[in-house]
Amino acid sequence: MSRTRSRDRVVALLRARGAATQADIARGTGLSRTTVAGIVTELRDRGVVVDVGPEARRAGRPATVIGLSPSLGAVAGVDFGHSHVRVAVADLAHTILAERERRLRVDLDARAALDLAARLVDEALVEAGVARDAVAGVGMGVPGPVDRARGVVGSATVLPGWAGVRAAEELGRRIGLAVEMDNDANLGALAEHTFGAGRGCADLAYIKVSTGVGCGLVLNGDPYRGAAGTAGEIGHMRVDDGDTFCYCGNRGCLETLASGCAVQEMLERSQRRRLALDEIVAQALAGHPACARAVGDTGRHIGVAIAHLCNMLNPRRVVVGGVLAGAGDLLLAPLRDSFLRNVVRAAADSVEIVPGQLGERAEVLGALALALRTAGPR
Ligand SMILES: [Zn+2]
Repeated sequence: MSRTRSRDRVVALLRARGAATQADIARGTGLSRTTVAGIVTELRDRGVVVDVGPEARRAGRPATVIGLSPSLGAVAGVDFGHSHVRVAVADLAHTILAERERRLRVDLDARAALDLAARLVDEALVEAGVARDAVAGVGMGVPGPVDRARGVVGSATVLPGWAGVRAAEELGRRIGLAVEMDNDANLGALAEHTFGAGRGCADLAYIKVSTGVGCGLVLNGDPYRGAAGTAGEIGHMRVDDGDTFCYCGNRGCLETLASGCAVQEMLERSQRRRLALDEIVAQALAGHPACARAVGDTGRHIGVAIAHLCNMLNPRRVVVGGVLAGAGDLLLAPLRDSFLRNVVRAAADSVEIVPGQLGERAEVLGALALALRTAGPR
């Protein structure tokens, strides 16, 4: 391999991981330790990498951790939820420099949400002390299907005010920077892979259980979206004899049985009012029988879908996030149980199902991770 290609690999690995020891870099790139040492010395002399600090370890001499230099610039991430806009700015060594969040009914009015996001990006850049021309990339996420090829948000059912909006282009025009867009589940997967429960794991599935049920995939260390960006749509897998119509037009989809929306509808009949999702989680944790049961049933249904997914893709880790994951084992125990009853043994033995570590910040951190993948020296 040429020296330039080897150097590109080292830089790409640092972009994706943030910081690493020379041993990590050698393992992650497949280059020899001698080659890595030579490249790191060269990159350090050119000011591309800096020593971030000693490695945390219990015994032995700690190795030096290396990261891309903060002087190379920063990236921004923007997350549009159904009822919030969140923004973060980080340097290329993955240090978060500023964060902003505002509540807003995002679904109905794309323009107002995009205007607000642009203001928050400006504020966060000022707080971080980052000049606009030092921004090396911007990632953004929306809680619905994204047509990356055409740059539009795809669904009038999920995001009524956004259908057909060229959202990345619109935000880019407002902030004067190029913006890359993806959906919330794909960003959650990338976030947990980069910053959270999926670190160091090349093959992982991230399941987001919030208003809907979404899934993002990282395979071989890279996001996997499929031919049209619909890979991992487990919300529309048929898991039961359920025959309720789904908004997608099919019947008996997982979404109709096990999404946050489905749980709210189920409880509405018995509780005589519509509870917010975080309220359902809090009540379930406090021992409310119907809320705990509804969360548990959701876990049971999702476990079946995860079993099918694991039979097909054999990931090393499945990370479960989203609002309902806040219920912890009330969701995960029945989920693991039904998973084990439906998965093939070899796939079950090689996978761990773990809760996400990033909570409600998963998507904005995923937007940063998306930007980090493409930013920096080439
Ligand atoms: Zn469906």
